[in-house]
Amino acid sequence: MNQRARIDSTPIPFIDVGAQRRRLGSLIDDAIARVTTHCLFLGGPEVAAFEADLAAFCGAKYAVGCASGTDALMLVLMAQGIGPGDAVLCPAFTFCATAEVVVLLGATPVFADVNPATFNIDPSSLVRAIATAKRHGLKPKAIIPVDLFGLPADHDAIAAIAKAEGLFVLDDAAQGFGASYKGRKLGTIAPATATSFFPAKPLGCYGDGGAVITDDPALVDKLKSLRVHGQGADKYDNVRIGMTSRLDTIQAAVLIEKLKIFPYEIAARNLVAVRYAEGLRDVAIVPGVPDGYTSIWAQYTLRLRPGLRDGLAATLKAQGIPTAVYYPKPLHRLEAYRQFPVADNGIPVTDQLAEEVISLPMHGYLDPPTQDRVIEAVRAALMP
Ligand SMILES: *Cc1c(COP(=O)(O)O)cnc(C)c1O
Repeated sequence: MNQRARIDSTPIPFIDVGAQRRRLGSLIDDAIARVTTHCLFLGGPEVAAFEADLAAFCGAKYAVGCASGTDALMLVLMAQGIGPGDAVLCPAFTFCATAEVVVLLGATPVFADVNPATFNIDPSSLVRAIATAKRHGLKPKAIIPVDLFGLPADHDAIAAIAKAEGLFVLDDAAQGFGASYKGRKLGTIAPATATSFFPAKPLGCYGDGGAVITDDPALVDKLKSLRVHGQGADKYDNVRIGMTSRLDTIQAAVLIEKLKIFPYEIAARNLVAVRYAEGLRDVAIVPGVPDGYTSIWAQYTLRLRPGLRDGLAATLKAQGIPTAVYYPKPLHRLEAYRQFPVADNGIPVTDQLAEEVISLPMHGYLDPPTQDRVIEAVRAALMP
């Protein structure tokens, strides 16, 4: 396989937003031009139109746009009245925003361990993290499961625990939006789902953006107030403390076009994942998808035997193939988060994964010859 006379080392992008831009062509320019013509840069008609499209896409009743995925999480916790003395349970193997919003509201994140096969919160550790929170004198209020790397969390088990303990569930689908769980799309699984339109996410816009998806009309009313300074009947009648967190009209216009091709991209991403699994399953632990789940493959993440990762990354880099490590330090190891409680005083799977994982280029426009270059390079580097 690696008998080429000369190794092609043309740089491969990790995520090719340019390829998608070329496919969309003038649709995006036209959409943006409509906004720069009507000049309703905030609250233009594209915002409500996109919110309706997004809700319809996943089969939910409502979607509320906001300025980022982080704000989407924050706004829901604000609507739930989360604050000092409250504990919010979440995994430590995630992007910091999952726990950051909890801390910003004066509440305490309590970290649970993850399942080594799915990278997602482990229900049995979650139960122990709830006990840990109580031992710390905190009142457990909510769980934020994360659909890490695009794979849905174990939502039925989480919902059962939430019900038994009286906790709210806010699904962090910043990476998972577009995936499905037991025949239903994320957005319809938890009472509230937050997603991000950061450009590198599976459904990204051309800047920052986010949304909350829910079936609860009372939550929608609160979110719509909170995203504009807690407005009441009108703009200068403020009934609660809120923030500035609107989805820009231009971003909504871009997202309307991007959502139209999202089903095609979901299928394409899955084909890429299947090809990676076929090409690599004998040299590394490739990510699996439990029965009844689909992944959106926000990342394609391998697990390697300890000690192999840095060498593989360097070898690939020399051949123009980028890799990334999500996440080299889990949250409980970060300066900003290390004072917060962890279940069982230690979450070993999370620590182990942080040493083993490496993510490969992944997007819906990764053509087979380019992907073969990645597969062959990984194989050559890992074969004894
Ligand atoms: C990207 C991300 C966020 C935050 O989204 P932003 O739009 O960048 O604020 C939150 N949680 C997870 C798991 C993410 O990957």
